[in-house]
Amino acid sequence: MLPAMLPAMPSRFGRLFAKPASRDDARGRRFVVVIECLLNQNARDRGAAAYPAVNDAVVALCALHGVGLLQLPCPEIRFLGPDRARPPGIRIRDRLDTPAGRQCCREISDEMVGRVRGYLAQDVELLAILGGNPESPGCAVHPVGSDAEAPDARSGILMQTLAEALEAASIRVPFRGIRDCRPEWLEEDLRWLEERFRP
Ligand code: SF4
Repeated sequence: MLPAMLPAMPSRFGRLFAKPASRDDARGRRFVVVIECLLNQNARDRGAAAYPAVNDAVVALCALHGVGLLQLPCPEIRFLGPDRARPPGIRIRDRLDTPAGRQCCREISDEMVGRVRGYLAQDVELLAILGGNPESPGCAVHPVGSDAEAPDARSGILMQTLAEALEAASIRVPFRGIRDCRPEWLEEDLRWLEERFRP
């Protein structure tokens, strides 16, 4: 956690009454796409949650910089169900990295690209795709600690299909894994994100 980077808490509900920033209303016209478990740790497989509810640091940083969050559905839950049902000895990645698993990820990706296009058409800027930890079968971003536009083959299956769908739509945006499995990695990723948010 990076206490220095977290915004001072305004009076309770104070932000609800913030004055319009520009144009017609208060919207900042910037957003990031985030994996489901950054906003809901209950999505994670048993033993993998790093927070009780949300990744507070990412959410606070976005709020501080006026950046919205658009949530990708968890590909493991979509494809395997919340209990990641699979035969004994078979890894989640083995199930997800199959034609049917990749098709599921492609469908999520295509839907997301449609949503992103809609925002871009409204002059809302996409700043980053925020993925997960290096071992995540669905959402790892490799090379780790990079801001690659094309996550490589070690990356999670959803990150790979999303990169392909974005490229097909000529949408260029950096991917970055938010590695909350180790505090020093998370700190590094939050620093990267804050830099990305600077005008
Ligand atoms: S597959 Fe992705 S969204 Fe689902 S729990 Fe793993 S990292 Fe989170």
